[in-house]
Formats: sequence, structure tokens, C-alpha cells
Amino acid sequence: MPERLGPSLSKPLFERIALIGLGLIGSSIARAARHLNLAGTIVAVDRSEEVVARVRELRIADEATTDLVAGVKDADLVILCVPVGVCGAVAEAMRPGLKPGCIVSDVGSVKASVIAQVQPHLPQDVHFVPAHPVAGTEHSGPDAGFATLFHNRWCILTPPDGADEQAIERVRVFWSAIGSNVEIMSAQHHDLVLAITSHVPHLIAYNIVGTAADLETVTQSEVIKFSAGGFRDFTRIAASDPTMWRDIFLHNKEAVLEMLGRLNEDIALLARAIRWGEGDKLFDLFTRTRAIRRGIISSGQETPEPDFGRRREDKA
Ligand code: NAP
Repeated sequence: MPERLGPSLSKPLFERIALIGLGLIGSSIARAARHLNLAGTIVAVDRSEEVVARVRELRIADEATTDLVAGVKDADLVILCVPVGVCGAVAEAMRPGLKPGCIVSDVGSVKASVIAQVQPHLPQDVHFVPAHPVAGTEHSGPDAGFATLFHNRWCILTPPDGADEQAIERVRVFWSAIGSNVEIMSAQHHDLVLAITSHVPHLIAYNIVGTAADLETVTQSEVIKFSAGGFRDFTRIAASDPTMWRDIFLHNKEAVLEMLGRLNEDIALLARAIRWGEGDKLFDLFTRTRAIRRGIISSGQETPEPDFGRRREDKA
């Protein structure tokens, strides 16, 4: 059992949980839930036979199936861990199997769109408590998951108006037991905050790595050889799952476009400062941004080690 995970519970929080989509996030929840005894029975549901077979091999769930309706049957908690763009279709397909009174949640990186997609398909007596664990890596699939992924990371709940208080509390307790710090906010506010803290940075990374790949005056081998100068860290982010990120941008369109507009204005100001030799403007900005990085480290969300904690032998 990983060192940083808390003690396992003497009694499970839920009798039966069903996880839909056993990729990085779904399989990490399964592993954490199993280590911590958060569920009497963990059911893994994935559309892919290969993923289901791998989940059985890894023994990270008690049952594994490709049958969505059978998989959610009798579950007290169902968590959608699929790409944002298919949440509505999955909710519609699983509806006949949902137990009255059960809680449906998700882990999508965008919240308003997921609520709009999922809620219309849920029966009145099913409680919907959307969630977004703000934790991840650039890897995908059931082998990529690990039980401590959410430890000391934030999990944001965005319950729609009128959501059942008891259901919200049960989901809050679930994520706290996994080791996350839980915060509750509106879906709209979540989408705006994540647009600037996660979505736009990913877009910048995809863009800069794409631009470098298209350059005629710098060769591919030079890009790889001299990547330590900041570029390498963009390539890690730009290696993130294409399906997941395509869906995030299409489903958080307004907030991302608003933040991109601001970013474009600020980049124009930076270009002007460089052109006119306004070093004080550059210095002031870089001083403020350094303080933000120090704030992230002191809040425990990043390692203080130089070069992102890379081992010496990894360094270029
Ligand atoms: P992932 O590793 O690619 O896993 C997604 C899983 O869902 C795959 O097994 C996939 O199967 C399955 N799936 C896709 N469409 C499906 C469908 N229609 N029905 C049933 N299963 C389906 O992705 P992930 O990183 O775990 O991301 C899952 C969710 O978590 C996304 O909504 C994402 O926004 C959110 N999230 C991700 C991160 C992160 O850093 N990765 C962080 C926080 C939240 P196939 O392989 O057959 O497509």
C-alpha cells in the first residue's frame, strides 16, 4: 500500500460503487477505494473488452463488465470517469439500471456542460453530485492509475441548484477519505477558474510544441537536443490524452475563449515591452509570477525541488 494513503475504514462508506471508464482517473479511484475500504463492492464498467480484461488482471475491482446497465445495477454510487463529450450518452444508456435513491457523480474536467448533458437523463429519485478531482498525469488507461493520485489535491464539487444535501455530504466524505481537499462552487465558476489554471495552459503547450514541430529554420533534432530550456516541460503537458483535451476545449468554449482573449492582449503588451526595451515592465511581471510559484509550493501543490524534482541523471 502506498505510504501516503490514510488508514482504511472499518466500515465501507458505500455498499456498492460502479466506476464507468477505467482509465487513469477511474482506475485510480478503484485502487484508492480498495486500499481504503470505501466500498463493499467495486464494479468496473468500460466499453472496451481489453480494458475490462486488464482490470481483472490487475485485480483493482471486484467485478468488471462491458454491460453498462448490469454494471450500475444496485450501485449506491455511480461515478462517470469517461471523456466529457460522452457523459450525456453514457448517462442515457445507463439510466434503466440505476437504483432509486442512488448517487451519480462524475470526474469531468468541465462542469456546466456535463450537468447539461447528464441531468436530463437521470430519474427524479437519483441524486446528481458532479465532481472534478484536480489531479492527473499525461498518461491514460488502467495501468496509468495509482491510489495516491488524489492525495492532498483538490476535488471540486459543483452541485446543481436544489441538489440533495445528504448526497453532497456523502460525496464530500468519499473524496475526503481518498485524501483530497474538497471545495464546493458553482459549475460556471469552476469552468472559469479551470480555464485559466488548466485549460489555457494546456492549449499553450499544445500550440508551442506544434509550432516547434512546424519550424523550418530549426531542425527536429535541435528541438529535442536543446529541450531543457523550458520546452521539455511543455512537451509533457502536450502529451496529454487527445480525446480528453479535445472534449475539454469543445465543452468549455466560452470560458476558454474569454481567457484566451485576455491572454492575447497581455502577450501583445509583452511583445511591445520587448520591442521598446521596457525592461522594468518585464522585471515587474516576472517578479509577480515568481511569487505565484512560491505560493503554489507553500500550499503543498508542487515540489520545491529545482527542475520539477527531476533526478540528476534525468537532466539534460
Ligand atoms: P482515460 O485514461 O482515457 O480513460 C477514459 C476511459 O473511458 C477509457 O477506458 C475509455 O475507453 C472509456 N470510455 C470512453 N468513452 C466511453 C464510453 N462511451 N463508454 C464507456 N467508456 C468509455 O481518461 P482519464 O484521464 O481517466 O479521464 C477521464 C475523465 O476524467 C475525463 O472526463 C477527464 O476530463 C477527467 N479528468 C482527467 C484528468 C487527467 O489529468 N487525466 C484529471 C481530472 C479529471 P477507450 O479506451 O475504449 O476509449
